[in-house]
Amino acid sequence: MKKELEMLLEKLEGFSNPKIQLEQYVTPPALAAEIVVNAKLIGDLHAVNAVVDLGCGTGILAIAAALLDVEAIGFDVDCNALRIARKNARNMGVHVDFVQSDVRTLCLKISRDPDVATIMNPPFGIQVRHADRPFLKKAMEFSRVIYSIHSAGSEQFVSRLAGERGFAITHLWKYSIPLRRTYSFHEKAFKYIPVEVFRLERKKDEVRNARR
Ligand code: SAH
Repeated sequence: MKKELEMLLEKLEGFSNPKIQLEQYVTPPALAAEIVVNAKLIGDLHAVNAVVDLGCGTGILAIAAALLDVEAIGFDVDCNALRIARKNARNMGVHVDFVQSDVRTLCLKISRDPDVATIMNPPFGIQVRHADRPFLKKAMEFSRVIYSIHSAGSEQFVSRLAGERGFAITHLWKYSIPLRRTYSFHEKAFKYIPVEVFRLERKKDEVRNARR
């Protein structure tokens, strides 16, 4: 399942003109496939009503979820990226809603026993420190479970933020991902970057409190 998914995701188009300030990097297809398949194996895509991808860029994570027959919706601030994301979904024969929105002001009202999984690769906060913070905070407003990619060394930061909001880290996977040379200031054609993928889950008693 993972290999087939990865091969499909390799066909997706990336950013045509990546914007530095928005930290636009495409998640490598192998990692995108790994995360989404892990989510499925853990059972998180089973009961879920929808997968939300915050900062979806050209859509790889949302499309990966859709390819596993899950309803997916992606949000990004950049219209050009969303145009490519829509084209990518069309070419893959899946339907994904891609909506233009700044996550810092996104207002998602989800009613009646929501079961939402957020799967996202937010900006790492290399250009703007802790640019990933609003993404985590927003995801924690409406998700039961969150898969999120961060730069290595983020555990303390993620753990503290999660604790304050009734979430806990249940899994932490470490990878080294090849990032293609996207911006001209990078010297090598690609380099390996250590990243951490977190699975966060809303604590049970917090679910009760939220429903009260
Ligand atoms: N999730 C995609 C792209 C990752 S790059 C992938 O995995 O391939 C980070 C993305 O976050 C970019 O597409 C960028 O446009 C988007 N982004 C940055 N700041 C944002 C904001 N404030 N609101 C919404 N999207 C934002």
